[in-house]
Amino acid sequence: MTSAIEADWRRLLEEAAERCRRYLEEIGERRVAPSRETVEAVAGLAGRLPEEPCDPAQVLGRLDELGSPATVANAGRRFFGFVNGGSLPATVAAGWLAAAWDQNAGLAAASPLAARLEEIVLAWVAELLGLPEGTAGGLVTGCTMANFCGLAAGRHHLLGQAGWDVEARGLFGAPELRVVVGAEVHVSLVKALGMLGLGRERVERVPVDEQGRMRAEELPPLDERTLLCLQAGNVNTGAIDPLGPLCDAARQAGAWVHVDGAFGLWAAAAPERAALVAGHERADSWATDFHKWLNVPYESGAVFCRHPEALTGAFRMGASYLEWGSGREPNHFVPEMSRRAHAIEVWAALASLGRRGVAELVERCCRLAARFAAALEQAGFDILNEVTLNQVLVSFGSAAATRRVVAAVQEEGTCWCGATEWQGRTAMRISVINWATTEEDVDRSVAAIVRCAEGVVGEG
Ligand SMILES: *Cc1c(COP(=O)(O)O)cnc(C)c1O
Repeated sequence: MTSAIEADWRRLLEEAAERCRRYLEEIGERRVAPSRETVEAVAGLAGRLPEEPCDPAQVLGRLDELGSPATVANAGRRFFGFVNGGSLPATVAAGWLAAAWDQNAGLAAASPLAARLEEIVLAWVAELLGLPEGTAGGLVTGCTMANFCGLAAGRHHLLGQAGWDVEARGLFGAPELRVVVGAEVHVSLVKALGMLGLGRERVERVPVDEQGRMRAEELPPLDERTLLCLQAGNVNTGAIDPLGPLCDAARQAGAWVHVDGAFGLWAAAAPERAALVAGHERADSWATDFHKWLNVPYESGAVFCRHPEALTGAFRMGASYLEWGSGREPNHFVPEMSRRAHAIEVWAALASLGRRGVAELVERCCRLAARFAAALEQAGFDILNEVTLNQVLVSFGSAAATRRVVAAVQEEGTCWCGATEWQGRTAMRISVINWATTEEDVDRSVAAIVRCAEGVVGEG
């Protein structure tokens, strides 16, 4: 019997390539947010679950015709929302190979290639980010999971020192751990604490300065039962905690320091910005994303840990049918077992950019953010943050006016920026983090924002 699904690979993949090419070539000129009508038209993909198989080329055609217009142009050059990166050309192409390869990166025996690529990219990134020799790591779906992993390693380590095997015995009856965070901690880190049984609400919050940086002088006394959670890259301002002094204080007290560096840690890879994260290498664990500043497709992030045995202590497992080789087993470092080989695209990104390319990407985004800030200030609007990294906060007067400008900009379609609250003020948040964004894109976006702001003022 033959398979019910016939594969004409040439026809199917050439058609896929053609559809993708058209999508990516047109993305710079289409509106950034999809129109309401195109989003409503996605209903055409609903209806009853099909009873019978369908030709893959037809499936692709329907998906492209209804799906593509309804996408947000995140892959384009003028999407400035949510600290979302785009995807470098080499990573998009490598992602196609990755799909064809269909490797299971969970076990070295299931994919020696994926296991090896993982080791390679973890070493390359550790070097780029200036992490200490001997640092272990694991690839995960994003920084939320990377935070989870780093904190799990810290929990294992601190409780292990107190004579408690938390993986075996759980948290009931365990010695208490304290968790210290900045008042501007990212919500995903707090969620990770909840998942680990450490509690979303029993954290001690350290006050921050006007940029959102933890005030080192307000740090409570730490001890060997404390997880100290620092941040490199505030999602609003881009500000980075004073990592060096905070790491030193924690080390002296025997506390565990975790750094949430989803995007901000990449300052370490750009010589002109590296001072912003000085001392970060003295932490115990680090979480970061590849789908943000490295411009790799979702889902892609990594945890790094100075103490390999703490990470594997948290995640190692065994079963009779799982044969471990003598090398690194990917699933001993992260929660997942079977998963995509994210390392393929990360490798492609790093191989295509090189050290200099990564540094330039980071530096260019920071320069473009400064260009945004200067032009909007020149146009008479308030910049609410020190633009030291890639984030810009702009106020257009009252909270209501600012919200109306943000809505008008999203509707107008030249670019996309979100709204946020910063220290009691409503702001438009601009995040420059796409490899393809140019000065011309910034100027075009500023012109559109200014037009929208004038329209809002005109409404009175
Ligand atoms: C984006 C972000 C996260 C969450 O990362 P995901 O990849 O979305 O899971 C955590 N912390 C900070 C500071 C972030 O910017």
